[in-house]
Amino acid sequence: MTIRPILIHPDPRLKKVAGALPDISDEVRVLADDMLATMYDAPGIGLAAPQIGVSHRLIVLDATQKDEAPAPLVMVNPEVILESDERSVYEEGCLSIPEQYADVERPAEVRVRWLDLNGSLQERDFAGLWATCVQHEIDHLDGVLFIDYLKPLKRQMITRKMVKLKRERAREAG
Ligand code: ZN
Repeated sequence: MTIRPILIHPDPRLKKVAGALPDISDEVRVLADDMLATMYDAPGIGLAAPQIGVSHRLIVLDATQKDEAPAPLVMVNPEVILESDERSVYEEGCLSIPEQYADVERPAEVRVRWLDLNGSLQERDFAGLWATCVQHEIDHLDGVLFIDYLKPLKRQMITRKMVKLKRERAREAG
């Protein structure tokens, strides 16, 4: 397993609509393993392929609490097929927008359909943090970031901070 570098916003690769995966190849399994390793290393509770510069509809997530056993999920071509009218607000963050957090309102519960790594169709209902996490990751596949839900001023403020962070990191890298 390889830990892959995570792209930092702003980056045009984070704004692209990712393409559906036609089938589950060994290449896709390796990519999913790398994404899980990268997510746990960060550490984070979700990661989408575009965040490591791969424009495929593939996400990984594990929103278990620290005292629970890990429960990694890999979703190929995930789709929200049902969402609750009830909405909930979570303070979200993103591995592509380090150390920035903001409240985002989303449907409180969603039903998601996806292909697992065996090529079997799966369907499950998610609530709580899992629901927020899976919606956040599926958004990445459509080039949508959590800051896109914020007021323009707040979004611009965060983007400016990220531009500065990237400049600093580039300088450190020499
Ligand atoms: Zn994210």
